[in-house]
Amino acid sequence: MSWQTGLIKTILDPANLIISTDTAVVIADKYPKARHHYLVLPTEDIPNIFQLSKKHLPLLEEMHLLARNIIEVRGESWSEFQIGFHAQPSMQRLHLHVISKDFVSSALKTKKHWNSFNTPFFVPYETLYSRLKGEDCFQRLPTDIVNGLLASPLKCNKCEFIAKSFPMLKDHLQQHHLRKMADKKEAAKCSLTRILQKKRECLIETELAAVMKDAYPKAQYHFLVVPKEDISNVTAMTADHLQLLDHMKELANQIIEQQKNLPSSHFLIGFKIDQFMNRLCMHVISNDFYSESMRRKQHWNSFNTALFLTYQTAYALLRVQGFIEPMPEEEMQKLRNSIELRCNQCDFVSKGLVVLKAHLFTHWKEREDKFTIKDQVEKLTRILDETKLTPIAKVLEDQSQRIVPSKGQQQGDQQSPPASYLNTFASHFPRTVSNRSASSGNHQTNPNWQRANQNPHMNSNNSVFNQQFQHFSNYRLGHSPNNLRTSSHRPAGPGNHQTNPNPGQHAPKWRRANQNPQMNSNNSIFNQQFQLGHAPNNVNMPHQAPFNPFKQYPNMRQAAPNKNGSHATPQNMNNINGAECSPPLNIKQQGSNYSKPNIHKCLGSQQFANTVNQGQNPSQANKPKPFKENPASKTKAKSK
Ligand code: AMP
Ligand code: ZN
Repeated sequence: MSWQTGLIKTILDPANLIISTDTAVVIADKYPKARHHYLVLPTEDIPNIFQLSKKHLPLLEEMHLLARNIIEVRGESWSEFQIGFHAQPSMQRLHLHVISKDFVSSALKTKKHWNSFNTPFFVPYETLYSRLKGEDCFQRLPTDIVNGLLASPLKCNKCEFIAKSFPMLKDHLQQHHLRKMADKKEAAKCSLTRILQKKRECLIETELAAVMKDAYPKAQYHFLVVPKEDISNVTAMTADHLQLLDHMKELANQIIEQQKNLPSSHFLIGFKIDQFMNRLCMHVISNDFYSESMRRKQHWNSFNTALFLTYQTAYALLRVQGFIEPMPEEEMQKLRNSIELRCNQCDFVSKGLVVLKAHLFTHWKEREDKFTIKDQVEKLTRILDETKLTPIAKVLEDQSQRIVPSKGQQQGDQQSPPASYLNTFASHFPRTVSNRSASSGNHQTNPNWQRANQNPHMNSNNSVFNQQFQHFSNYRLGHSPNNLRTSSHRPAGPGNHQTNPNPGQHAPKWRRANQNPQMNSNNSIFNQQFQLGHAPNNVNMPHQAPFNPFKQYPNMRQAAPNKNGSHATPQNMNNINGAECSPPLNIKQQGSNYSKPNIHKCLGSQQFANTVNQGQNPSQANKPKPFKENPASKTKAKSK
């Protein structure tokens, strides 16, 4: 019968292979019986488990490695999966099931489906392996035993519950799943407290507060400053906290200072008014918002609407009125779900996050290019300075003066040759001049100021909260609340890093990005970057080389090895109600020292997530689709 050869047909199409090696491949089960369900098949034409013998043990080991790998690729936890074979498989070609234990799926439709994974009909990998090792073969079960197993009572795999009917079992499994998600969400809410206690994950720590990396950075650089005092969120602060706020800002300045690759003017500092965590945290985030973890419009809106309270505003409100009024839930909801996504660096507006992310990439790329040129100029200048090769410097100076110096450069004629050379560059690349310290002239773009001017939400009059903003609009217009501060010892006052000397004026370079040919939606490399979700993640968090997507992902189907040595970036698809996610699985940290298979190919996991979640073949998943919760319930697939 032809349906029995379905798996063989499926693996013939390379687009269906999530991972492939010389000896085996991983595909998505077309009718997933749980939230995650994959099949590992050998490339050799072995019809089923009954053809296996001792000589196949190395092949089984390789298949098992791929099972581990796919779980890691999905950022899932090993302990939440079961891996094994059906004692009486229905489809041709040996296949190893890799399935999550939730069994929440619309394709799980019959008692047989359930019992095939939750009775001895399911043969765990280890059982088959040791049977082959000891007996050199695996015997078929007698038909009456098989039938008996498939007709077993419907016993829950997580508790003692025995369901009277299949719908009751499904309902019960759903309850387990929802409880687990809720527990995870609660646990996630406490994660800042856990990090504070662990200490080793803190980048800077003082008696009053600590700085840590955001586990799911929403931009290239994203840190959190967390006070040790247990304050639930920004609306729980009072005027008594002004000194603490000062201190937190100082820590923010320190961590920004440590980011040699990015000037302070590119950072935003502030609070989310609708904070998810149960502990106050101050965000220190680069304004590129170019990150793989930026996955929902809610993520964008939480930093780029009035939901984000800048440090200056928070400081001013506390200083003047002594409290920060909570925003009404309805209003927060409206802002979170704002459909018009406005670029924070130019006038671009998009209705979709994918398009906005593509646009943000052009800004990011432009900035990285400038930094590269700047670094090269600095390096050259250093060499000239160190070696004191005055004659060469003189030649450079002569050359640079031939590039028609600007007025400013003509004034600098008395400067030393290297400096003069640098100035010539500076006129072409204003932001790349070596001095990136917090002098006001360096602050060209501040998304906050732009938002204040452009975002209609920021100007609406309809709530006390917004009135607070109106009241402090002078701060948004560039008057730093420095003069309000209580402690005079603070070297870098509020606003030092966020004041725009030219309110309303945006750096011209960002504007030009609007006309960038890369914006053309038909640009294939460019679009693929985003379709496959290959925006840089925390790969370039501090002290790492800048990430270049073009260099690292020349072929978009080919995921680069991650830092654990496996071949796809572990993703975290476990978003809980749009909030933070659970940490990516690190198999090595879990005590396993498996060797790594020689993998030819591994789909970008975002693309894969889309594929699985939409119940599609990966080949159908080329169009970007937002990640959806509970994919199984949305699967249109029919049961086999
Ligand atoms: P078994 O009962 O062990 O043979 O399981 C076969 C698995 O293959 C089932 O979980 C099916 O949902 C799955 N399946 C059937 N057809 C396809 C296909 N064309 N591509 C991928 N998976 C399939
Ligand atoms: Zn149960």
